Amino acid sequence: MVEKAAASAGATGVEKVGLRVGTMSGAIPEALDGAWPIATAGTIMEGAELEIETVMAAVWCPTCAANQPIDEFFALTCPVCGTPTGQLTAGREFAVAYADLVTPPGA
Ligand SMILES: [Zn+2]
Repeated sequence: MVEKAAASAGATGVEKVGLRVGTMSGAIPEALDGAWPIATAGTIMEGAELEIETVMAAVWCPTCAANQPIDEFFALTCPVCGTPTGQLTAGREFAVAYADLVTPPGA
């Protein structure tokens, strides 16, 4: 995704990439950090800094009539009143939030 954006912008490199990662996305920030240098070796992102923004998972609770944050080990129940809810409203994010591209002068 970042490679495509960098290519279409005529960028020569990438300084920093920001990822939004939900706690229910299945991705582990520590593992991403560790894999980053390997995954980007030989690509335009080689040497880029990785910044991970963790998005706390939340469910909509009809009893509380509110979004309630849940941690990844909770089943899909309201942590406040215990009402079961399948309405995950946040936490499945796995997206590139931004990429700081290095563009050649005059491009
Ligand atoms: Zn509730």
